[in-house]
Amino acid sequence: MPAALHPERLLPDRWIKVLPEGLYVEPGGFHIDPVRGVERAVITHGHSDHARPGNQLVFATPGTLAIMAQRMGEAAAVTTRPLNYGETIRIGDVTVRLVPAGHVLGSAQVVMEHAGSRVVVSGDYKRRADRTCAPFEPVPCDVFVTEATFGLPVFRHPPDLGEVRKLLHSMALFPERSHVVGVYALGKCQRVITLLRAAGYDRPIYVHGALEPLCALYERFGVALGELRPATVAAKEELKGALVLAPPAAATDRWARRLTDPVVAMASGWMRVRQRARQRGVELPLIISDHADWDELTQTLDEVAAPEVWVTHGREEALVHHATQRGIRARALALIGFEEEEA
Ligand SMILES: [Zn+2]
Ligand SMILES: [Zn+2]
Repeated sequence: MPAALHPERLLPDRWIKVLPEGLYVEPGGFHIDPVRGVERAVITHGHSDHARPGNQLVFATPGTLAIMAQRMGEAAAVTTRPLNYGETIRIGDVTVRLVPAGHVLGSAQVVMEHAGSRVVVSGDYKRRADRTCAPFEPVPCDVFVTEATFGLPVFRHPPDLGEVRKLLHSMALFPERSHVVGVYALGKCQRVITLLRAAGYDRPIYVHGALEPLCALYERFGVALGELRPATVAAKEELKGALVLAPPAAATDRWARRLTDPVVAMASGWMRVRQRARQRGVELPLIISDHADWDELTQTLDEVAAPEVWVTHGREEALVHHATQRGIRARALALIGFEEEEA
C-alpha cells in the first residue's frame, strides 16, 4: 500500500468530509463535483449532475473543460486549470492527479494523496471498451470511493455489439421505417455511433439538433464519427428507412412520431428493466450503458484492492454487503444531487 508506514498517518475520513455541497477535501481546500458553485472544484466529468456552473477555479481534464465551456459558457468557471491524465499537482496540502474513468470523453478518477494515504474517487465509470474515451485505469489505493448506479447483481449489461446488431437487424426487417434511437447527448450518442461504425454501418446517421454540438466537440478531440446529417423533421422523405439519433425525450414524443412509422429504440442501462422501456413507449430497448454493471463494479473492487470502500451514487447496499463479505471495510456515502443518468 502507498506510504502505509507514514509517521503521521491520518485516516481519510478525517480529511475528506461529506458536506451538503458535496465531497470536501479539507487539506486541499477543494470540493469534488460539488452541487453548487464553490471556491475550488475538481470535476470528474461533464455530465450535468457532476459539472455544475458557478465555481471560481475548476480543475478538470481538457476534455471536461471543453464540454463545460460548450454547455455553460462563461458560467463554467472564473478560472480553469486543465489537468492532463497522469499529471501530478499539489492543491493545498494534497497531491492530486486525474486518471481515465472510461465513462465519457474527458472523464476522470481523482487520485489524492495526503498524510500517508491514497484515496481514489472514481466519479462515474465503466470497464468495457469504448472508442470515445480513454479506458478506466485501476489505481491501487487505501480508500476507493465508487459509484454504484447499477450496484445490484441483477444488472449485468450484455455485450454492446450484440445490442447494436439488434438495431441493425430491425432496420433490415423494416427497411421502410425510420429507426429513432434515444441517446443522452454527452457520451451515449457518440458511443452508439462508434458502435454502429464498428458493426460496419457506414451510411449517414441523422442526428437531432440538440446532439450536434457535442458530436462536433468529440470530432475535434479526435473521435471519428463518420458522416452525420441533421435530422430536421422537414426532411421527412429522406428519413424514411434512416437511422436517427435524438435525445430520449424527443425520441419518445411527438418529434419522433412525425417521422415515417418510426421504430422507437432507446440506448440505456435502464433498458434492462422492461417496465421502464414499456412506460416510455420504447419498442426496441438497447441495453447500452456508460456505467459499470455489477460484474464490473466487483471486478474493480478486486483490482484496486482497497481495504476500505465508500459507496455512493445509486444502489449502495448490495455493494457494501458484497465488499464487507470479502473483508473490506465498506460504507454508503450519503451524497446528494446525483441523478441516475444525465436528465
Ligand atoms: Zn456521468
Ligand atoms: Zn453520475
